[in-house]
Amino acid sequence: ALKCGIVGLPNVGKSTLFNCLSSAKAQSANFPFCTIEPNLGVISVPDERLNKLAEIVHPGRIVPATCEIVDIAGLVKGASKGEGLGNKFLGNIRECDAIIHVIRCFDDDNIVREGGMAVDPVADKEIIDTELQLKDLETIDAQLAKQQKAAAAGNKDAKLMVTVLEAYKEVLEQGRNAREVTFESKEEQQAAHDLFLLTTKPVLYVCNVDETSAKSGNEYSRKVEEIAAREGAEAMTIAAKTEEDIASLETYEDKQMFLEELGLTESGVNRLIKKAYALLNLETFITAGEMEVKAWTYHKGWKAPQCAGVIHTDFEKGFIRAEVIKYADYIQYGSEAAVREAGKLGIEGKEYVVQDGDIMHFRFNV
Ligand code: GDP
Repeated sequence: ALKCGIVGLPNVGKSTLFNCLSSAKAQSANFPFCTIEPNLGVISVPDERLNKLAEIVHPGRIVPATCEIVDIAGLVKGASKGEGLGNKFLGNIRECDAIIHVIRCFDDDNIVREGGMAVDPVADKEIIDTELQLKDLETIDAQLAKQQKAAAAGNKDAKLMVTVLEAYKEVLEQGRNAREVTFESKEEQQAAHDLFLLTTKPVLYVCNVDETSAKSGNEYSRKVEEIAAREGAEAMTIAAKTEEDIASLETYEDKQMFLEELGLTESGVNRLIKKAYALLNLETFITAGEMEVKAWTYHKGWKAPQCAGVIHTDFEKGFIRAEVIKYADYIQYGSEAAVREAGKLGIEGKEYVVQDGDIMHFRFNV
């Protein structure tokens, strides 16, 4: 399953965000969440389409896609040098597919800022980024001399690796993140991927603001957005504490009302998960049967057999064809039979590129 790690300095609102993800579960069957360990939870990916399809199909159950969330506390200045529990936690980030970097964008004299100065989201972001960059430089330096030696001895793979390592090193030493480097050739891209650097992971900067700034953000969050844009990274604004309050409300209606009062149409949790999906180039296809309506996650651009393989490797191996209904058609015609009758059921072969929201039925040989 997709795994997102929450990082940020102490007291910026990481646990608050984590908690509002987790309390979403207790209150709403639509967004179940279970805490596996104190800092690890599984959350459902919100998808209205599943509910709409269920109204047509009446399945035994609805199975949304899931996303694991890890609260990675303990990152402080000096973490890469072993300050605090930093080094251990940096290791946890390596296992994540994406990083959710929470940044304090609220004033509150009662909440101590690490380092003790005035609220400064740009400096905060830099402290965390720097620790991750230093860790990456450590990873690179551990390899570089060895690879250079092998390259000098004529090893082709090593030569390629040296190119990649040096390109990363140059950028990291300028205090930039490795994700800013792009490689042209497939071979270089693969070598880059094999390094599992921390700052090549997709990042979503989350500006944690006060309730009054929930809708439009504030000076702080705008600064972060500006920097993120310059880096080609994503940023969003959430009022984590307020969202925590919302999550504790009893009914869906109460929650919606609270959100609307803030000028929001959708909870921060939902927006965050959707952003994370987009960030990772993930999309959803759906299977709809009497037993279940289920969301499946695949990478944008995947063809039908590859998507079949998400369900079962046998589906991919024995792939014959896929029957595809577009979500909008399913809703418009109101049943699979009606879709067929209208000639809107697509019969697709091996080269079909699956589209987000496709309702798929695979035919295969066993
Ligand atoms: P963590 O150390 O990053 O996990 O931070 P916490 O989630 O524990 O938050 C630290 C403190 O800041 C807690 O007392 C929160 O209630 C408070 N806090 C979190 N978000 C906000 C916010 O938007 N505004 C204000 N005033 N306080 C917040």
